[in-house]
Amino acid sequence: MFDVAVVGSGPGGATAALELARQGLKVVLLEKERLPRYKTCGGGLVERGLALLPREVGDVVERRYASSELHLLDADLRFTARRDHPVVSLAMRDRLDFLLASRAAAAGAELRAPCRVTGVSLERHQVRLDTDDGDPVTAELVIAADGAMSDVARLAGWIDGRHLIPALEHEIQVDDATFERCARAPRFDVGIVPHGYAWVFPKAAHLSVGVLSMRRGAGHLHRDLEQYLKALDIVPRAVERHGFVIPVRPRAEGFARHRVLLVGDAAGFADPVTAEGISLAARSGRLAAAAIVQAGLDEARVRAGYRAGLRPLLADLRVARGLARLLYDHPRARRWLFRRVGQRLVDAMTDVFLGVRTYRGSLAELAAALALRPFARAASTRS
Ligand SMILES: Cc1cc2nc3c(=O)[nH]c(=O)nc-3n(C[C@H](O)[C@H](O)[C@H](O)COP(=O)(O)OP(=O)(O)OC[C@H]3O[C@@H](n4cnc5c(N)ncnc54)[C@H](O)[C@@H]3O)c2cc1C
Repeated sequence: MFDVAVVGSGPGGATAALELARQGLKVVLLEKERLPRYKTCGGGLVERGLALLPREVGDVVERRYASSELHLLDADLRFTARRDHPVVSLAMRDRLDFLLASRAAAAGAELRAPCRVTGVSLERHQVRLDTDDGDPVTAELVIAADGAMSDVARLAGWIDGRHLIPALEHEIQVDDATFERCARAPRFDVGIVPHGYAWVFPKAAHLSVGVLSMRRGAGHLHRDLEQYLKALDIVPRAVERHGFVIPVRPRAEGFARHRVLLVGDAAGFADPVTAEGISLAARSGRLAAAAIVQAGLDEARVRAGYRAGLRPLLADLRVARGLARLLYDHPRARRWLFRRVGQRLVDAMTDVFLGVRTYRGSLAELAAALALRPFARAASTRS
């Protein structure tokens, strides 16, 4: 019998398990894959997430950039987010997540991998998890951090569909000249993928190139990625192709019921503007752990504490969703906005990723300064 079973050893689960183990709770961390495992992800880390992860993450960061570029290809505009410290750090998720899980294990969590949770029984004083290694686990509380497809949420009774958007990530080998050119800065390109964007993230010796659409079921992402590579004159020597989904809208049915809490992608917490999910997975993992520690495992108080802890995060995601709709569903408005205030918008978003401001604060201030009154009102009242 464990105090807490954490399912999924991505940034959400590993962060929660580490915090709980540090507080002396008896924790098991269950992961279906043998570690380390590839995870479809750009591996882009920003300061608001890095600040929540162990310092040793620096050991697996392959590149750090004090600037990144945003190109609006349909408006011939280019902006640079520049600071005197890293704005984007890039890592491969197999190494990052293995490090996070190992830190949790070193702090005292029992790590079982590979071990897939296949069944959830909600009993009066505990939760019983069936696993594919034949050894069931019982715990007073469960944190479901099992990602976008969350088996645990489904098995525990959540039925609402989240907004799952499709994304492709290709790991690409290129010649030295192309690599040098692309390694100057990570770049984001809007205006080439309908309702979405594309990116090039330089890793130690290859490029992670991806595309996503904020629309469900967008059918042409493979074609969009090929066009993007052509537009950037990137000719792959070898390619590994991956695709997955990202939940950019939180679940409508809440994030805590009975003795189960949802964190990260299982809860639907990826950023609606960028689909960046590592920071919010780590943040919700921490909030879930804090609620458990503060409530001393009392299930009703844990649920209430977690809901209260999530309120500011959810309020900011609502503002971010409004911005995402404007940017991805209204290309003419986007071009108008970026022509008028593009650099200020990029700087405001950079502040959000650095964790020094929220979407709400950043956008309300920007809109007020520019006398964009309806936008300022919307940003300041969406709470
Ligand atoms: C193409 C693409 C690019 C992206 N790029 C970025 C980026 O650059 N930066 C960024 O911040 N975010 C990015 N994201 C989003 C990011 O990958 C996720 O938001 C983030 O990984 C969520 O973390 P998590 O801990 O909630 O879940 P995950 O990282 O998905 O971890 C869930 C874990 O649970 C395990 N699991 C699943 N089911 C079970 C089960 N039944 N039993 C046991 N274990 C189970 C899985 O194996 C996995 O290890 C990207 C996503 C995609 C698809």
